Amino acid sequence: MPTLLFTNARIVDGTAPEPTAPTQVLVEGDRVREVGTAIKSNAETIDLRGRTLMPGLIDCHVHTIAVMADLGRNAMLPDSLVTARATRVLRGMIMRGFTTVRDVAGADFGLKTAVEEGHFVSPRLVICGKALSQTGGHCDFRGRFDDRPAPKTGFSLGSLGRICDGIDEVRRAAREELKGGAEFIKIMANGGCASPTDPIHFLGFSRDELAAIVEEADKAGTYVSAHLYTDEAIRRCVEAGVHSLEHCNLIKEDTARLAAARGAVAVPTQVTYDRLAIEGAALGFPPESVAKVEDVRSAGMEALDIMCRAGLPMAYGSDLLGDMHRHQSEEFVIRGRVLPAHDVIASATATAARLCRMEGLIGTIAPDAYADLIVVDGDPLRDLSLLTAQGQHMPLIMKGGAFVKTTSLN
Ligand SMILES: [Zn+2]
Repeated sequence: MPTLLFTNARIVDGTAPEPTAPTQVLVEGDRVREVGTAIKSNAETIDLRGRTLMPGLIDCHVHTIAVMADLGRNAMLPDSLVTARATRVLRGMIMRGFTTVRDVAGADFGLKTAVEEGHFVSPRLVICGKALSQTGGHCDFRGRFDDRPAPKTGFSLGSLGRICDGIDEVRRAAREELKGGAEFIKIMANGGCASPTDPIHFLGFSRDELAAIVEEADKAGTYVSAHLYTDEAIRRCVEAGVHSLEHCNLIKEDTARLAAARGAVAVPTQVTYDRLAIEGAALGFPPESVAKVEDVRSAGMEALDIMCRAGLPMAYGSDLLGDMHRHQSEEFVIRGRVLPAHDVIASATATAARLCRMEGLIGTIAPDAYADLIVVDGDPLRDLSLLTAQGQHMPLIMKGGAFVKTTSLN
């Protein structure tokens, strides 16, 4: 089994406001074997000379198959083309230091299997299959004058979701996604920007439908993640037992406290609203969608502060589409304007690992964790922008004990 010893590493993992003193990390096969200052090993040594060593980053809100910003058109692309383009999206992510991503609508078990078989360079993939949406909800891209029935099966790889209405249909949809390899269930429980007929204030699914979906996830030993903006939408989902609260731009204090008390996790995605406002139109995001962005963008920064004060844990999310994926790491800097740097980093390490149900395996540098590691020039606790710029400040990136990027450390 190949072994490798990193020496003079200052570990930054988001659990403390300062880097550790220089230490050693022994990698054996795909795992971290030992962390300490007196490791005896004749493994090949890499002297980091005081550089920062971090666990690979985790993004809990991505759409790896959203290869273009217009999601209605994305769904019409052939699977072969979407797959080819998705491999480029995934490669970009790992080269930015993200060694695990949670896909919250679209990616299927085939793509996850292809990643695990190692056909291309990619982060680990946690998937939910297709998101569940009601008729006229955030995954209904049919438009006002299109009354063709929504397909019940045979979804293209490029489609983010599927339509289901009524208790029986939502149960069947959830069960089919779980059967197909979904590791959690994603629902669209509020209006959204990208879809044509649902203003932000629309509430998705009845309370009975929400309860049925939560029960199906619960029976399978997993949880529900919901697309949400308004305080009312968030509250009814928390009350129904939804665990992962995506976006949360318009959350208020009482609801944030309730969500925290119920053990929920929020996944804000502020960077996508910033980018959609700036370049959405030029990249084909429809005009009616661009108009909705401002409804949630400005409130998003305040929401970060509200959730922090309420003690609601926040995981890292970016939610970018098409050519905007290159801004994935900028969420660090945006959150750093409101939140302490180590908390922002923890959102992409410890908190994210918990949400992915991979605690102890990812998001930490500890014995038995996967050797998903990034070396950073400088201290990201002092300057979060070191995590941006397409991995420019990351000379080494390792996933499962294998280097995906190596640059000389001189
Ligand atoms: Zn999303």
